Amino acid sequence: MIAYDRDNIFARILRGEIPCDKVHEDDFVLAFNDINPRCPVHVLVIPKGEYVSHDDFSANASDAEIAGFTRAVGRIARAAGIAEGGYRLIANTNANGGQEVPHYHVHILGGGPVGPMVCR
Ligand code: AMP
Repeated sequence: MIAYDRDNIFARILRGEIPCDKVHEDDFVLAFNDINPRCPVHVLVIPKGEYVSHDDFSANASDAEIAGFTRAVGRIARAAGIAEGGYRLIANTNANGGQEVPHYHVHILGGGPVGPMVCR
């Protein structure tokens, strides 16, 4: 398992050292708009715990953290008004998944058709 880097940019956002465009916060997650949006709605949801990736989170987070995270993602999509029309969740994971920031996050993408699946 890859070790957690406490200096990654999302850890710094969680500590309040770097600002973000916050859309939601609760006991389990922080959600904010992506700085480089690829869709009309592009929100990042991150757990408050120190997890590198989906691999790490799914293996090591508590049931409460996993439930809190999953519920928050749905709640944020509904609040953004994109649930009925539809949206895509992406969790880029480790090197082959193209993960750039090593703190687990889910991208919520919507606000219109999000296009075809990403693999060749
Ligand atoms: P990933 O490739 O899945 O690790 O995605 C990382 C995402 O974080 C990219 O979509 C970036 O645009 C986004 N990002 C990087 N820095 C920031 C920041 N300071 N605030 C908001 N989004 C960011």
